Amino acid sequence: WSTGKKIEMAYNEAISAKHDAREKQNIDYSFFNEEDTKRLIREKEMIDSFEDAMARKEFKVFFQPKYSPKNKELVGAEALVRWIKKDGSITNPGDFIPIFERNNIIRKLDEYIFRNVCLYLKKWKDSGKKIVPVSVNLSRASLYYKGVTEEYERITEIIGVDSKMLPIEITESAAVADSAVKEIIDSFHALGFSLQMDDFGSGYSSLASLNLMHFDTLKLDKSLVDYIGEFGGNRLIEHTISLAKELGIQITAEGVENENQVKFLKNIGCDSIQGFFYSKPVPAEDFIQTLDNPVFDMVKSDTDYVEEHLYNFNQSYYRPSFHSVVINLTKNDITDYYEYADWENMLRVKTRKFTDAVEKT
Ligand code: C2E
Ligand code: MG
Ligand code: MG
Repeated sequence: WSTGKKIEMAYNEAISAKHDAREKQNIDYSFFNEEDTKRLIREKEMIDSFEDAMARKEFKVFFQPKYSPKNKELVGAEALVRWIKKDGSITNPGDFIPIFERNNIIRKLDEYIFRNVCLYLKKWKDSGKKIVPVSVNLSRASLYYKGVTEEYERITEIIGVDSKMLPIEITESAAVADSAVKEIIDSFHALGFSLQMDDFGSGYSSLASLNLMHFDTLKLDKSLVDYIGEFGGNRLIEHTISLAKELGIQITAEGVENENQVKFLKNIGCDSIQGFFYSKPVPAEDFIQTLDNPVFDMVKSDTDYVEEHLYNFNQSYYRPSFHSVVINLTKNDITDYYEYADWENMLRVKTRKFTDAVEKT
């Protein structure tokens, strides 16, 4: 109930409160508040500016490489959209994709990204580069758009790129085992596309859907990868991988950030790895360099080493009360000891001095 407001406004606010109640679950009612008003205005601005942003080509494709942990070779990439506004600010998809999904404009954006990836692949191939498959995300809303499979095939044909080079990622929550989704997946397969189940293990994983629908690759969600190092987590991932192998499905691990995770995944036969350990999503200009140097180069900056050690340290069960840190700068093949009270901050500050000292020794 809103006093002094137009009925349309009150209606919109009630709808917003309804969405809120749905999202929160287990609550029986929800009120509209000022925060919601601001959020609604922001969302409306985003929706209203979509067409202009498309016309100004503000949506850009970034590429995140996928590597084989066995030989550190580049085996593919994922296309991830970024909204780069006039002022140069970059908005990540988490901030606009859910809004566009609710308003059905995601279909246009998905197709635009797909088309752009096709154009890049064609350009790179024609200039003599060895290209790798680049997977594209297809939102649930785009999936149900009638004729989507034929439309995507038509785009590949017009541009002149093989559909095998464009795996389609469908998030596990959309990959529900129903006949409509199965039909779309079969139809993509018939046209030569391969299918990847995205975010596997993030929430709705249904083993039945693996049985009913044919996916070529499972992408293990970061939330599962984060369990690596825990007894239960390790077993869960091992068994998921062996199950997938038995079903003839490949595995890509997502959100891999450190060397321990890479080692573990390599040992248990994970086919490919995507994550900040290897690379963040990068613009096309940078990705070309990855295509030109397709074997991952282990040389890292000092900061990367320290970040990694800090990460591993934070992950370990044993955290000493007295702050003693051992850094093994394998790059220089030297081990040394440091003791700090506020080790995390000090470590960052002292690293440069430390490596200088190492070089002198
Ligand atoms: P996703 O498809 O699961 O993509 C992986 C996300 O994880 C990306 O976030 C990527 O930057 C992030 N990521 C990769 N490695 C790491 C890591 O080591 N650590 C951490 N913390 N994060 C990592 P991004 O680019 O922000 O995209 C978020 C989601 O937005 C995507 O999740 C995807 O569902 C959606 N999205 C992105 N581009 C598109 C698109 O063109 N169409 C549709 N429908 N959805 C898209
Ligand atoms: Mg994805
Ligand atoms: Mg994912």
